[in-house]
Amino acid sequence: MRFSSLGSGSKGNATVVHHGNTLLLIDCGFSVKETEKRLSLRGLNAGDLDGIVVTHEHSDHIRGVLSLAKKYQLPVLMTAGTAKSVKSGIGIEFSFIESDVSFSFGDIDITPVSVAHDAREPVQFVLRGGGMTLGVLTDLGSVTPHVLENYCFCHGLLVESNHDVAMLATGPYPPSLKSRVGGDWGHLNNQQTKYLLQNIYTEQLQQLVIGHISEKNNSLELVEKVMSEVDLKASDIHYACQDNGFSWIELTL
Ligand SMILES: [Zn+2]
Ligand SMILES: [Zn+2]
Repeated sequence: MRFSSLGSGSKGNATVVHHGNTLLLIDCGFSVKETEKRLSLRGLNAGDLDGIVVTHEHSDHIRGVLSLAKKYQLPVLMTAGTAKSVKSGIGIEFSFIESDVSFSFGDIDITPVSVAHDAREPVQFVLRGGGMTLGVLTDLGSVTPHVLENYCFCHGLLVESNHDVAMLATGPYPPSLKSRVGGDWGHLNNQQTKYLLQNIYTEQLQQLVIGHISEKNNSLELVEKVMSEVDLKASDIHYACQDNGFSWIELTL
């Protein structure tokens, strides 16, 4: 199994997962043109995709989903709550997925994990194939026991470390956005991500990617410092960025 990000952050997110004969896009927060360009940097055409799974309806995740699906006749999988926010899906094949009910999509087994985030029915994904488990966990405000249980044993993990508490407090966001982002239904701060990593098994974790890092309320130096405090001997750590995401990362037995 291998995975790559086309971009990660509040301006747009999209993650590609490839296993066996299945190529899956998780979210598409970029325009069709931008997505095509970013896919080509990974050696892919949008027509190679088998489908799009959507975590939630925030524009940094859903912006390009419908137009990409329409142009390339891709099935779109999302929860009923997320689908409620879709205004016009004419000509698109939708499948509804249920929170916390696993399903198979081609060669990949997927568990949509319900998370605390301020959307209608947000989920994040745990994907399995070829004996490998990949966790994608980019938008959540709280590390719940449910999240720890579902992400406790991953070989690859893309997890957000969105903001530094002090930088958010003194940063440029208006008070309402500060309390939204920093609240229980917003985004993980660096310390919460550290807590998560300290409370899952990491012996088997091969590849850790930190993503959805705020460009205004966090810095790479701060995230790196916090990550250095976590005992992650066996794993490579990568930092996903808004402009380039990260290139292919392979998980192997
Ligand atoms: Zn987001
Ligand atoms: Zn969100």
